[in-house]
Amino acid sequence: MKLPQVIAVDGPSASGKGTLSRRVAQVLNYTYVDSGAMYRTLAWYCMRKGMRLEKPMSLDDERAIARQLRSWKAEMKIVDGQAWLHVDDYFPAKEIRTDAVEKAVPIVAQIGKVRDWMVAEQRECAARGPVVMEGRDIGTEVFPLAPVKFFLEADTIERQKRIEGRGGSTDGAWRDSMDINRKQGALIPALDAIRINNTGQTPEETYAILMTHIRERLSLSESLPA
Ligand code: C5P
Repeated sequence: MKLPQVIAVDGPSASGKGTLSRRVAQVLNYTYVDSGAMYRTLAWYCMRKGMRLEKPMSLDDERAIARQLRSWKAEMKIVDGQAWLHVDDYFPAKEIRTDAVEKAVPIVAQIGKVRDWMVAEQRECAARGPVVMEGRDIGTEVFPLAPVKFFLEADTIERQKRIEGRGGSTDGAWRDSMDINRKQGALIPALDAIRINNTGQTPEETYAILMTHIRERLSLSESLPA
């Protein structure tokens, strides 16, 4: 079996996954996949339908969310080298970045059937071509055999500052603790992940470290663009 070419980038909120994964994907000409956006899109879709997305969730609440996955018209579309989950041909780029979605998304993401659906879509996406995929469980659940896995970290205070710096007001620590403590697809580093704590580093510095590891693992030539 030919393994999909996957670079997995996992880590908590504001650990730098997004910026770095996007840049690495561009340089390698891989498709960039933001798996968090997929969970956010489902949360947005359910909220728009007036569904309750608050703790505690009953089994019925969870089943109602999982049922949406059977009826919504969702499709991964690759646009300019980036894969986004579209619903009814629409990608809610702005809508999924609101505070309300941010609070609801870890609740949706802890439902087992939701995770199964997302993982299947993510694997299908990588079957189309090489990807850099960022998320929480990419190196552990989605692609446990990925040839390159990163787990990015940074101190909690610095990450909260980064969230506030980009205008966010949600509590990143709350979201992270929901992600760490769920039963399926929990936020934990894969045993074979390269762990990078980028506290105090510029994105440029972290990028250089990532590329050094990628060159080594994928045996790419030193002439790869910096
Ligand atoms: O990466 P981002 O902050 O957009 O992710 C939003 C949320 O989506 C996370 O807090 C987590 O609850 C969920 N998520 C997940 N598994 C992934 C990616 C994101 O559960 N692979």
